[in-house]
Amino acid sequence: MVKNRAIALVDCNNFFVSCERAVNKDLQNRPVAVLSNNDGCIISRSEEVKKLGVQMATPLFQVRELLEKYNTAIISCNHGLYREFSDKVQNVLVEDLGDKVVELYSIDEAFLDVGTPDKLKLLGDHLKSKILKETQIPVSVGFATTKTLAKLANKIAKTSEKANGVLDLYNSPYTDLALQRTDVRNIWGVGSRYAAHLKNHGINTAYELKNTDPEQIRSYLHVFGARTVMELNGIKCLPLEITEKDNKSIAHTRTFGHTISSFCDIKNAIFYFTTRALEKMRWNNLSTKTVTVFLKTDRFNPVPYYYSNAYSYNSVYHSDITSEIYKWVTVCLEKVFRPELRYKRAGIVLSELTSVESISLRLYEQVNFERWHKLSKLIDEVNLRYGRDIIKLAALQDKGGWQSQSTFRSNDENHSTSREHLGLGKTFSKSVRFL
Ligand SMILES: [Mg+2]
Repeated sequence: MVKNRAIALVDCNNFFVSCERAVNKDLQNRPVAVLSNNDGCIISRSEEVKKLGVQMATPLFQVRELLEKYNTAIISCNHGLYREFSDKVQNVLVEDLGDKVVELYSIDEAFLDVGTPDKLKLLGDHLKSKILKETQIPVSVGFATTKTLAKLANKIAKTSEKANGVLDLYNSPYTDLALQRTDVRNIWGVGSRYAAHLKNHGINTAYELKNTDPEQIRSYLHVFGARTVMELNGIKCLPLEITEKDNKSIAHTRTFGHTISSFCDIKNAIFYFTTRALEKMRWNNLSTKTVTVFLKTDRFNPVPYYYSNAYSYNSVYHSDITSEIYKWVTVCLEKVFRPELRYKRAGIVLSELTSVESISLRLYEQVNFERWHKLSKLIDEVNLRYGRDIIKLAALQDKGGWQSQSTFRSNDENHSTSREHLGLGKTFSKSVRFL
């Protein structure tokens, strides 16, 4: 009989907090809480903050006094930083195991196809210590035959002292014991609403769910329920989804802290997004030929009406020059912008990416292109070393009214030394992801 292949789930511990600690040593021995966009809720907690009883997604105002009493560092989220660390962790996995077996599931989780080895605990310990050494991010690793079971193994690995961050439920005789000790609510995707349904039917533990007829579950939890029962029985229903690296694109999109209507503010936001996306593109040594700009109004407040529109500009030549691509996105913006509206969300996508070395020469202006290309690369390097937008084009205004309110944001500029030490930014040379 062919042995079922093992799936690993590598999950970064308290990811946003761990990233902030990696770039700021002063946070190592302090409780840390990271806030959502606009500083509304707590979205990442250090172990100390968890022990204070602060739950995930608690509004800051409810616990602010408590956090301050325990000298907690309260930090606005910095998704750019987290994406860089995410890339770095992913690169360690790809380097170690190859890119055909890694599914980046979320910013801080990856599923891996690790074949059928016997000594998974050793592999887990190896990945955990290598990622910690190379990125300073602590991770936990869980192994099992299905994604649902790997999620559970990872959860136990995180909390069990004995497991110490790595748990193998693939070669283990204790899977059923683990399921007996797991509340059905803690199974991947079940949550409190489905758990209430299951408990009404007398199913309280993951083990009881495993031993239920999938068809019976289907009657009230539909396909999801039936699939979960199968996965708990070790039958793979959720295959690994490996991202294809062909046909790449890079996007930068944001929801604004408040709606904005002025063309100038929107253009400034679009230029800012374009600048960030181009930095990432150039780190990958790529150039683009097609840019897309989209604008959306607030779907929950459609006054005078809901509007969502996008426009793409296709150039004859590939380019990686900021000033030239600013012109392309301006053309797009003029097509989609309507002055009577207030916009809530906007973004840009760079597509038809190709390596700078392979692009065709320009009939005119080839010398100028090469000069600007070198200058753009140089600006990126200076900004990476000394802080974001230390050098920028005059067209990119200072941060305007479009930015979301993030008063507690950790300062990128202060991190330049430790960022360099960690080799951040350079990670982009390895992979481009859909964002
Ligand atoms: Mg995590």
